Amino acid sequence: MTSRISDLLACDHRHVWHPYAAPSLAEPPLLVESAYGVRLQLADGRILIDGMSSWWAAIHGYGHPALNAAIGLQVSRMSHVMFGGLTNLPAIDLCTKLVEITPGALSRVFLCDSGSVSVEVAIKLALQYAQARGMAERNRLLTVRGGYHGDTFGAMAVCDPVNGMHTLFQGVLPRHFFADVPGPEFGAPWNNDSIQSLEILLLRHAHEIAALILEPVVQGAGGMRFYHPEYLRRVRALCSAHDVLLIVDEIATGFGRTGELFGCDHAAIAPDIMCVGKALTGGMLSLAATLCTDQVADGIAKASPGVLMHGPTFMGNPLACSVALASIELLLSSPFRENVKRIERQLSAELEPCRMLPGVADVRVLGAIGVIELEDPVDMRLLQPALVDEGVWLRPFGRLLYTMPPFITEPDDITRITGAMRHVVERYAVRD
Ligand SMILES: *Cc1c(COP(=O)(O)O)cnc(C)c1O
Repeated sequence: MTSRISDLLACDHRHVWHPYAAPSLAEPPLLVESAYGVRLQLADGRILIDGMSSWWAAIHGYGHPALNAAIGLQVSRMSHVMFGGLTNLPAIDLCTKLVEITPGALSRVFLCDSGSVSVEVAIKLALQYAQARGMAERNRLLTVRGGYHGDTFGAMAVCDPVNGMHTLFQGVLPRHFFADVPGPEFGAPWNNDSIQSLEILLLRHAHEIAALILEPVVQGAGGMRFYHPEYLRRVRALCSAHDVLLIVDEIATGFGRTGELFGCDHAAIAPDIMCVGKALTGGMLSLAATLCTDQVADGIAKASPGVLMHGPTFMGNPLACSVALASIELLLSSPFRENVKRIERQLSAELEPCRMLPGVADVRVLGAIGVIELEDPVDMRLLQPALVDEGVWLRPFGRLLYTMPPFITEPDDITRITGAMRHVVERYAVRD
């Protein structure tokens, strides 16, 4: 390692927080200098194939000329102006486009900076709506186990109560209702028992519940589980029957990842409130949005204080909105369903044999998501460097080794990713 790189890493070690990390990381992070297509160029000269899409966001890969151009053009006009009392063309165009492409009667868009905040806004919409209807006692949420909705306090409270951070912040987090993990698995036969625990909670507690929140079809960071679309259809019907709003968190599933434009599309349902983020800007800038129906928006407007009590400083940022619009147009003008289907077929064919390996509990693939679930938690100190030695960037967690590659990833590169996954499982999955 050159002294420039080691000096930089020493400063990183001393001064920089990383996600879910101790003040100083046991393993130094890799210094990335640039990225192009599906490749990350490291400062030490190595090149890695990115199997993570930068936490599932960079669906078009890196440095796409259409996205770079959108940002360049917008920079030359203005990077940001406040959104209180002012508006801007990219924000108007983006919100109009989101309303057009999302399911059902979602008609009003709240723009914010990150997925977690979009979940906070969704929760706030639901609570203000209940209050506006004179049902202030409906101040709790219903969700399912195994979910992940973000790291801010409102969002944490609806993450899985075991894997999430509930014990750490006991007494601070509001207490909500948790139904069993949704099931059966995607592709398995439907079974009415799967919905029972949710049904019972609604029968007993609907009068206390403002909204139900869940991730459609794929539970992401809470465990990479894929469940039956019929579960979602039942959820939609139950919410309507019990007068409970349905919030669908599409932050991980939105924009093609599961093979449909949105996770909801697998079940042909529409929520009352929807969150999008992650791939919204194609991974270029931080942006998220919460959409709701006129019914929710008008309900809030009719009662005191008559406004939604939220307003981020960088709301409606024109740079982020312009690149989000460009990313959506790029996605819709590409054969993304075929691209994701091709990746799905290849991930299935190449990962399925891993099912036979010792230490492997399950292999599952849906859309451009490939998961090897191990019997024991992975040892990141062994696995991460071994994957890098294979020339791929993957970031396993818990018992899960998974890939969510950019949709433009070529077959040879998918094979590199699945080959690396297989090799590290063969070497490290079984503990001695
Ligand atoms: C990543 C994620 C979030 C949180 O988004 P941030 O941008 O990290 O705040 C919320 N919900 C789901 C389903 C996610 O995958």
